[in-house]
Amino acid sequence: MTIASNLGFPPMGAARELKRATEGYWSGKVSRAQLLATGAELRRRHWQLQRDIGLDRIPANDFSFYDRMLDTCAMVGAVPPRYGFKSEWMDAETYFAMARGSQGKGRDVTAMEMTKWFDTNYHYIVPELERGQRFRMASAKPANEYREAKAAGIDATTVLIGPLTFLLLAKTRGTAFDRLSLLDALLPVYGDVLESLAAAGATWVQIDEPCLALDRTEAERAAYVRAYTQLAKRTKLKLMVATYFAGLNDNLATALALPVEGLHVDLVRAPQQLDALLAQWPKGRVLSAGVIDGRNVWRADLERQRMLVQRAAATVGRDRLWVAPSCSLLHTPLDLDLETKLDPELKGWLAFAKQKLQEVVALATDDRPAMAASSRAAQSRRTSKRINNAAVQRRAASVTEKDRARGTRFADRRPAQVELPAYPTTTIGSFPQTADVRAARRKLHDAQLTAEQYDQFIEAQIAKTVRLQEELGLDVLVHGEFERNDMVEYFGEQLVGFAFTEHGWVQSYGTRYVKPPIIFGDVSRPTAMTVRWSKYAQSLTQRPVKGMLTGPVTILQWSFVRDDQPRAETAKQIALAIRDEVIDLEAAGIRVIQIDEPALREGLPLRRAEWNDYLHWAVDAFRLATAGVRDATQIHTHMCYSEFNDVLRVIERMDADVISIENARSGSELLQGLEQYKYPNEIGPGVYDIHSPRVPSTAEITSALKSMTRVLEDAQIWVNPDCGLKTRGWEETMAALKNMVAAAKAMRENGAR
Ligand code: GLN
Ligand code: ZN
Repeated sequence: MTIASNLGFPPMGAARELKRATEGYWSGKVSRAQLLATGAELRRRHWQLQRDIGLDRIPANDFSFYDRMLDTCAMVGAVPPRYGFKSEWMDAETYFAMARGSQGKGRDVTAMEMTKWFDTNYHYIVPELERGQRFRMASAKPANEYREAKAAGIDATTVLIGPLTFLLLAKTRGTAFDRLSLLDALLPVYGDVLESLAAAGATWVQIDEPCLALDRTEAERAAYVRAYTQLAKRTKLKLMVATYFAGLNDNLATALALPVEGLHVDLVRAPQQLDALLAQWPKGRVLSAGVIDGRNVWRADLERQRMLVQRAAATVGRDRLWVAPSCSLLHTPLDLDLETKLDPELKGWLAFAKQKLQEVVALATDDRPAMAASSRAAQSRRTSKRINNAAVQRRAASVTEKDRARGTRFADRRPAQVELPAYPTTTIGSFPQTADVRAARRKLHDAQLTAEQYDQFIEAQIAKTVRLQEELGLDVLVHGEFERNDMVEYFGEQLVGFAFTEHGWVQSYGTRYVKPPIIFGDVSRPTAMTVRWSKYAQSLTQRPVKGMLTGPVTILQWSFVRDDQPRAETAKQIALAIRDEVIDLEAAGIRVIQIDEPALREGLPLRRAEWNDYLHWAVDAFRLATAGVRDATQIHTHMCYSEFNDVLRVIERMDADVISIENARSGSELLQGLEQYKYPNEIGPGVYDIHSPRVPSTAEITSALKSMTRVLEDAQIWVNPDCGLKTRGWEETMAALKNMVAAAKAMRENGAR
């Protein structure tokens, strides 16, 4: 019998109960006992739901109060010294202090760092390890949750993050050292955890090793074999090593050499790996075939996936085959049944976590009627008029390189653009989104404000912001983005081809959830989206006001995208829609237009071999969106959140006249990059961190600017914060910008042109 299995279920609950309980606990309104009870209730409910769907293997320890990587730090006792953790077992206070920092009660510690989990929009807590790091089992959560499942009648698969993925994703502190040198100290703790699971009666343990599907060195591959050889010696439990998000490819031999009972592979992202895998499949081993997409919201074409399952079964044997989602379902919304407002046609094409598990069961049980129904849905999706727009497809097909080129070189077009003093000052776009701005939007939504009243409110915000910027003496102004809830949602709501859910939440980090738009069809822009506000702002001032748009790659990256055409094609369609908006802004008298691409860097594929291809189409999309303007229109772009030195050269090909880049938090890294590589156009490396309410002094900003003059020409340098100011308060914003303008003046007086 083929086994229907799952790798992980989203813990938050249909009504986001976990968010409410956790935040309530932080604010003192929910007791520790209540928080624990909510956790237990959600686990029970989700186990039962999975059993009712008909799954044979159900995960445990996939639940987390904050993050599984943080849970792993707790499990192996990797608690940075600043938390003063001395007890035998992890406690809630230390756990949440690691997650969010803690202030008060005589304590003042910063949080651990957070970063994106592979190429998802989920952020994990980054373990901090030092030379000679010691480990010990400091959390009994895996065995406790196994027992809990058992009491509910389920022999669950306990999910752990594997020792190598844990080490490879950690950051090292203090003097540099080889992180793999910590493996020998770490493995005995994993051994202890496995022992505790065996004592609780466990049979299978799933060890997540997504790092095994990425580019690895020989030393890392050897460490994989060494680690699992040791663990296999230490335990009689059956181990399922789970890889996902990419194919094993050049790590296949390593994966097959691990002396474990099972291997999970992602056959959605990397179906091509199946042939090589089957050709070398070790007799008797269990293959867990990830054939249902855990990264997207589309209903599968089960008849097509059935062929993969059949092929796998023919080699490994039906009784050695598990059918599963490609990865944990953490990255999909919970339950499509909760969506009451989506129209039935679109809804018929979708599957969220619950529905995906139903698909897994249909495949494992060879449920032919279910398969036929899914293929009918796939067929209707392929031919639907709601998806296919011939005009959009024709336009995209006729794009040529000329449409993506500005026509003149930067140096030649720059004199035609806005005239500005040296060290021009500007901001990244948004100004504080205070409670009254959010309240106005809510009132509009609840029909307590008419559209006219709301528009008047926004106009008043814009007028105030323009006036304040003039008073500050900023050179290039912005309207403040008060009309926007979110930089992707705002555009998605106005574009054709996008849909929005009511409950399609996915975890971004901790108790933060996002509801990404769903791009389901050909994208077009029926009417102008931002011109009204930019024009209004420009009418209030002589100084240039920047038009402010989100770029095609970022819109793509922060949405659930179509799986029926390449991402590059969808990006091109979005680029054409943004291009129309750019041209309309120009026609309305806007002389400076910024197209934000904060997600360009994070869209990089996991495997280096695929980087060039991605960067090519991503930059092409940006160029297509922006190159329709005259020489006199100045194009800006903005990027943040990430490491740029990898992509500096690529940014040049975007050919924006000006780029603003986050810089303050990453120290001097960007400057080092710019030292080695001469960026040709103008650039504003952020002069202060907007993630904190702290007000930087004029002297600090001046010194940041001076360090830039070492690697950039004076005439290239712009003066701006790291990112938008939307999460800040007005008071600190005004104080910081005042100092920023003063620093720019000081630089000008210092002899810069
Ligand atoms: N223009 C946007 C803002 O200022 C940019 C946000 C971002 O880079 N994430 O809010
Ligand atoms: Zn930013």
